[in-house]
Amino acid sequence: MVAMLLVYRYRVKSLNGLLNKQARAANFVWNFCNDTHKHALKWGKRWPSGFDLNKLTAGSSKELGLHAGTINAICEQYAKSRSAKKRPFLRYRGRRSLGWVPLKGRDIRKTPNGFHFHGREFRVFKSRDLPAGTKIRDGTNFSRDARGNWFLNITVEVAEADARQINAGVGIDLGLKDFATLSTGEKIVNPKHLRRLESKLAMAQRAKKKRQTTHIHARIANARRDFLHKTALGIVRRFDYIAVGNVNAAGLAKTSMAKSVLDAGWSSFRNMLGYKAIAHGAVFEEVNEAFSSQVCSSCGALPDSRPKGIADLGIRAWVCSSCGCEHDRDVNAAVNLLLRSGHRAPVEGIPGL
Ligand SMILES: [Zn+2]
Repeated sequence: MVAMLLVYRYRVKSLNGLLNKQARAANFVWNFCNDTHKHALKWGKRWPSGFDLNKLTAGSSKELGLHAGTINAICEQYAKSRSAKKRPFLRYRGRRSLGWVPLKGRDIRKTPNGFHFHGREFRVFKSRDLPAGTKIRDGTNFSRDARGNWFLNITVEVAEADARQINAGVGIDLGLKDFATLSTGEKIVNPKHLRRLESKLAMAQRAKKKRQTTHIHARIANARRDFLHKTALGIVRRFDYIAVGNVNAAGLAKTSMAKSVLDAGWSSFRNMLGYKAIAHGAVFEEVNEAFSSQVCSSCGALPDSRPKGIADLGIRAWVCSSCGCEHDRDVNAAVNLLLRSGHRAPVEGIPGL
């Protein structure tokens, strides 16, 4: 059985002050790694590896108030990031960096109300329970968001489920008006509180209230992540086969701001569907979105009556001039996505199949 890594994220209730302090010490270690690299560069020495950095920082745990595993994790992450970025050295971490305290999976364990680490219990808000019997892996860290809240990101290894038999398939059209439309005809809308936050954000931005803007940004990010998780999990539980369009916001959204927000939401939704599908034994496929809203899903024609491109984005419903079938624009697109996928066979309730 194959395994994959998943991250469970918990908001930390207690000891935030301690984490702020540890984050400053963690920055110090990171910057030390950076200085070491600069020094090696200057004197033409071999670039230190994560192992070398570990040796150089050994014994500093008590003085810095950091767990020795945390110092190791920072050194290793530094070496990894540096070689991934292919740069001689990286950016220094300072007051403006979002707080980050990594740790080794072996140094933390679950308690009834939180997690025990470095001699203390960090209580967390209960959200999703860790899968029973999972081992906590390296890559686990505490991180602070723009609002100053701390989160504990627990990395665990879960086994990939055996593939399920494919009975029910679904096509998903991601959109501007509704978040998503399913080939079953269901519409998934952005939750109300998310929309409320977004209009608040727009107001704060217009008023140039910087602190408030940051604060709302963080709340939106959390609310959206939660919404995407729940939506993706619901879909993976219901359907064995999931086809999603490879849409991106270029050409759809009016402003570059809206574009990046939409793109980020769509791609993290596709990512979540992908890994949740693996964990639950469902099949996930990204299919070509081109003309999916223009082809009639009933007769396959590209009729004259179709909505054409961006100019016709306002057209929500249309009748195929070739076969007379009535279409909701987005449901038709979702059905086409399902038809284009590799698993069109056992699909129920779709006219024309
Ligand atoms: Zn037709």
